[in-house]
Amino acid sequence: MADIDVLAELEGLQQSSLAELAGIQDEPALQAWRVANLGRSAPVMQVFSRLGQFSKELRPQIGQRANQVKQALEAAFAEKAEDIRQAELAKSLQLERLDITLPGRRPEFGRYTVQTQILREIYRIFGDMGFQVYRSPDVEEDDTNFTLLNIPPHHPARDMQDTFYTTQPGVLLRSQTSPGQIRAMREYAPEPIRVMLPGMCYRYEQIDARHEVQFYQVELLAVDRGITFGNLKATLDDFARRMFGARVQTRLRPSYFPFTEPSAEMDFECFVCGGKGCVVCKNSGWLEILGCGMVHPVVLQNGGYDPREWSGFAAGMGPERLAMLRYRVNDIRNFWTNDLRFLEQF
Ligand SMILES: [Zn+2]
Repeated sequence: MADIDVLAELEGLQQSSLAELAGIQDEPALQAWRVANLGRSAPVMQVFSRLGQFSKELRPQIGQRANQVKQALEAAFAEKAEDIRQAELAKSLQLERLDITLPGRRPEFGRYTVQTQILREIYRIFGDMGFQVYRSPDVEEDDTNFTLLNIPPHHPARDMQDTFYTTQPGVLLRSQTSPGQIRAMREYAPEPIRVMLPGMCYRYEQIDARHEVQFYQVELLAVDRGITFGNLKATLDDFARRMFGARVQTRLRPSYFPFTEPSAEMDFECFVCGGKGCVVCKNSGWLEILGCGMVHPVVLQNGGYDPREWSGFAAGMGPERLAMLRYRVNDIRNFWTNDLRFLEQF
């Protein structure tokens, strides 16, 4: 090939390459063009490797011209690459355009479980009467859960409150919130006490519709000079009216608890039928709501109070039982299965 033809060849190469580039619309074709026109075996690159074959006089001119062509192609390639990038961005913006007229997705709001809602209702009512929430541990000692509450190791009441024991002797999951009575008394003695003791309790139970291995309790404890059974009844009557309505009747029935003397069960007039008799109250017109009594002298003494000088009352109830009665929940297991169909009803 005559040397002069190489210059013409370079001229033609530049024009045809640029013409080809002008027609390219997408990234894959662009990359193929780059390989063919600027890659190692591209015609313009071949000219560089052939430089030695040309005459000395024309060699600088050919080299310079080849360089110009290469630079022109590189510049055109960079420009085209930017054009394609912009075009593809515009296309994706168009395709993925956000339709702001569509309604948004509502976030799910959490809520308190029905037991917590009822517990808070109870806190509010007794809080108005001057009782404070006092929390004590779920993991207890045999002494505080039983013995100091007048339930010594041989006592038959222990059979009704079998619980879960840890591998450490004498350490167990509390079967009732009453150990909090001992803890509160030992913390506050010799000052008067008005506390609510809420929390989870545990029992070794065969689980069925009415029995669970865990449940809430909330207890009330008042210790002072001159507290009488009349104070107990008035406080619980007031609670019944604030919780279930101004006209609700109550009645006390004798009962037995190891840590109170005398002990009683308080029934509330059935809030479903108003005392006329229905399925919920089993036609009696009454609902068993809470256990109560005057704090046993032995318990007062164990708490650090002299029973000749001090007296007190205690009462306890279960938020799940209240929820079951109020909302006709017929299976206690619903409270712990975390089924949204149940939880969302409250
Ligand atoms: Zn009823």
